[in-house]
Amino acid sequence: MNSADVIVIGAGAAGMFCAGVLGQRGKRVLLLDHAKTLGEKIRISGGGRCNFTNRDSSPSHFLSLNPDFARSALARYSPADFVTLVNRYRIQFHEKHRGQLFCDESSHLIIQMLREECLLGGVEILHPVEVRAVIREGHQWRVKTDAGSYQASSIVMATGGLPVPAIGASAFALDFAKTLDIPIAPVRPGLVPLAFTSDAFRGLESLAGLSLPVCISAGRKGVRYGASTFDEDLLMTHKGLSGPAVLQASNYWEEGEDIVLDWSAGLDLEAVLNEKLVGAKTTEGALATFLPERLAQAFSAKIQLQGKKWAEISRVDRQSMIRQIQHWQVKPAGTLGWKKAEVMLGGIDTDALDSKTMMTKNFPGLYFIGECVDVTGHLGGHNFQWAWASGYACALAISA
Ligand SMILES: Cc1cc2nc3c(=O)[nH]c(=O)nc-3n(C[C@H](O)[C@H](O)[C@H](O)COP(=O)(O)OP(=O)(O)OC[C@H]3O[C@@H](n4cnc5c(N)ncnc54)[C@H](O)[C@@H]3O)c2cc1C
Repeated sequence: MNSADVIVIGAGAAGMFCAGVLGQRGKRVLLLDHAKTLGEKIRISGGGRCNFTNRDSSPSHFLSLNPDFARSALARYSPADFVTLVNRYRIQFHEKHRGQLFCDESSHLIIQMLREECLLGGVEILHPVEVRAVIREGHQWRVKTDAGSYQASSIVMATGGLPVPAIGASAFALDFAKTLDIPIAPVRPGLVPLAFTSDAFRGLESLAGLSLPVCISAGRKGVRYGASTFDEDLLMTHKGLSGPAVLQASNYWEEGEDIVLDWSAGLDLEAVLNEKLVGAKTTEGALATFLPERLAQAFSAKIQLQGKKWAEISRVDRQSMIRQIQHWQVKPAGTLGWKKAEVMLGGIDTDALDSKTMMTKNFPGLYFIGECVDVTGHLGGHNFQWAWASGYACALAISA
């Protein structure tokens, strides 16, 4: 077809879902993507099992310069709605941790389901195709590609964010927005491991591979997305820190700031390290009652108390050690960047969009959905929930 009611650009999570709903609500939809294989981010998500939503997803799990923006869309398409769809396709899933729902088998099943939904809606999918220009012509939009020129009254931008460029991520939505003077909230990698200088990490270099529950805090009140604290697992790596705790904190961390770690994950250390209980143990033995042995060794070596009996250590030294363990303040050197990030923070400024429809306020018929919008979820299925919810809000508005 050379003309459609709607052209959706980007056949990832948000684009495929939105196109399927539009098609099933009677719209003629053309879905374009530059990738050879569709839904690559879905395929690699959740370690290949796609954490497709979170039962407990709520607006408090999202970051945006306007924290209220996502409320309306999230309220209209809930995690339970997506679970109903997944059940209809008999995709088996399980809850892994704190409401996170994963496929039992493979994330391919979610991709197949979205393709099937598009098929049911008669959506025409064209890929790989290079989109060369999107031009406004009166009340219509023209999309010029290397495979021809197409016209529609609505355009949905669903080209995602910048993470993992190797599988087709591009700045297409952001670059296009700039040509129309649509504002953009500054972008940076999110849900990403943090790197450290060797100084900050001295004494802990040998702990790569170690994983343990911690309590981690990052960010500052009043700055960008504010501050937050997470109780999750941390993973030591050769380059720095990773694991769910660090990925969550990275969303709030700003360049140049410290993060604060409580390696005891909130234990009452005065009670745990009571002299009656551990007084006869060496320092590392006392610490190993609640820390992995390798970390207990590293900490006691770091403050040169290795081998000393806990009962023989001065009160001042004990308190200094407890403070180091519970308030380890360190400045990350940076993140591991777009290659390792799971999401993009920032994007199309929500001030430019109607929160009920995802349509731009100044360009009738032009919509942005999914990750390219300045709405970013916590780790745990919230980012896909935003893809479904923003795609649904847009599809309902166009087909109303
Ligand atoms: C390693 C990894 C694991 C993740 N795991 C999870 C998880 O388990 N749960 C969760 O909720 N979130 C997860 N995410 C985040 C999630 O994948 C994204 O939030 C989600 O895919 C965003 O959906 P989207 O449709 O906006 O973008 P995408 O799914 O990225 O889709 C964008 C589409 O646009 C196409 N495109 C890009 N540029 C162009 C262009 N110029 N022309 C035409 N087409 C273009 C791309 O090829 C792609 O098909 C993970 C991300 C990564 C990187």
